[in-house]
Amino acid sequence: MQDTKRSGQLVLPGEKLGVIEEFVSSDGTYIEDGSIYSRVVGRVLVDLMTKNVSVHSLAQGSPVPSVGSIVTGSIASVQDSMASLRMFKIGMRYLSGFFTGLVHISDASFTYVESMFDVCRMGDLARAKVVSEKNTVYHLTLKGQDLGVLYGFCSSCGHVLTRKRPRMVCENCGNIEKRKTALDYGKGGI
Ligand SMILES: [Zn+2]
Repeated sequence: MQDTKRSGQLVLPGEKLGVIEEFVSSDGTYIEDGSIYSRVVGRVLVDLMTKNVSVHSLAQGSPVPSVGSIVTGSIASVQDSMASLRMFKIGMRYLSGFFTGLVHISDASFTYVESMFDVCRMGDLARAKVVSEKNTVYHLTLKGQDLGVLYGFCSSCGHVLTRKRPRMVCENCGNIEKRKTALDYGKGGI
């Protein structure tokens, strides 16, 4: 683990990032003799969920989320008081790698919510805003009418949910669920 670079670190071409037993080589990297190296000058990104290691070239000016960024992604996990979002888009620009951000239940809505499962579910597509970044851990908020779930999927059959305020209805199986939706839920392209 000593050789392993952390997310956010600046690296040079040829710098060792990790070994293939632990990580998956992704954009901006190459493998030699079982180790993963950077191909470019840039910032390391380690996705702790997929173990993908990539380097975002500074030369290309790849977008990186920062405080205030509006990001779009898919919900990767949900717990009672926390959810994670795999961001794939900042503003209108698609990312070449993935960043993961966390939403705490206190940032889920201006109105009281009992559980994060009433806000979003795994696999939903959602829009969020970055409120803080510390050591490349992004904290996100869903507060605001433009933020929240854009497409929610039925927990039991996977069909896209229809918004029938205040509930979300699956027109395929009749399941009724809850979400914190964005104003343009179900309308836009992703
Ligand atoms: Zn259903």
